Amino acid sequence: MTEQTDRHGGHCLCRATRFAAQGAPDWVAHCHCESCRRATASPVTTFAGYKDAAVNWSGEAPRVFNSSPGVARGFCGRCGTPLFYRTERRPEDIDLYLSTFEDPTAFEPQFHVFAAEQLAWLRMGDGLPRYAGGGADSGEVD
Ligand SMILES: [Zn+2]
Ligand SMILES: [Zn+2]
Repeated sequence: MTEQTDRHGGHCLCRATRFAAQGAPDWVAHCHCESCRRATASPVTTFAGYKDAAVNWSGEAPRVFNSSPGVARGFCGRCGTPLFYRTERRPEDIDLYLSTFEDPTAFEPQFHVFAAEQLAWLRMGDGLPRYAGGGADSGEVD
């Protein structure tokens, strides 16, 4: 595998802010939490979890909104596209939105988090594990 093919680029809607993630993400998951729902104005969002050191940014630096203590949500200051999620609980990590990748089909989601907050009318039927909270330790829900 060459360095070129293992690089996964992405950008916001207006392309002012761009990123390049090196290699495959550590995990890919759908998040149903209310904060993500409001931050993305979508019923569910999908994250690709990377190490911060694996992601390079170019163009205009993302702006940051602290949506709760210790949580930073990055977005394009020009067009408003959500670009990343960071939490002090995982200081080496950065979660990118898979939908902002140039090829969102490059990686497959592996599980759902905060499924307990999923909107009742949203049906995905993908058979993936569904965790009530932020991870497997929170227990599975139907
Ligand atoms: Zn933009
Ligand atoms: Zn969320």
